[in-house]
Amino acid sequence: MRINFKMKRAAPRKPTAAAARERLATWIAARGLKATRQRDLIVDTFFTQSGHLSVDELLDKVTARDSSIGAATVYRTMKILGDAGLATARHFEGGQTRYEAALDRHHHDHLICTSCGGIFEFENERIEEMQDRVAAEHGFRVTHHKLELYGLCEACQERPVSRQR
Ligand SMILES: [Zn+2]
Ligand SMILES: [Zn+2]
Repeated sequence: MRINFKMKRAAPRKPTAAAARERLATWIAARGLKATRQRDLIVDTFFTQSGHLSVDELLDKVTARDSSIGAATVYRTMKILGDAGLATARHFEGGQTRYEAALDRHHHDHLICTSCGGIFEFENERIEEMQDRVAAEHGFRVTHHKLELYGLCEACQERPVSRQR
């Protein structure tokens, strides 16, 4: 059995914004929607960031480039990216919906620091296999899953308690 425990910071290999825009253009055209310059700019901004962005955070970056773009347009665009399978919405506890790029990403799970809000990604083959085994024991067929571990990251454990949020 191959044991594979990889943990890395939330900085996945960045798919190019160009590739994402191309995939989105195909998806949009197939649905008879029109391409818009604002949406292109939002998609471009999103795919040049890494990690897990809230709509507010993305809006900040977008309005720095074009102040005429509103929150509603960003929300709609992220919804489209989600529907097109290019972004994944994450609903971590105690926070807003966050989006991460889904283009060319492999399945992974998350560790979330409840003090600094840091989000760390991990892949663990043994955990994945164990989950399948548990499901099989219950005659259950799993379609998807999310594993989220909450606690304190290394840096926050070293910080004096009084300084923790
Ligand atoms: Zn998993
Ligand atoms: Zn992630």
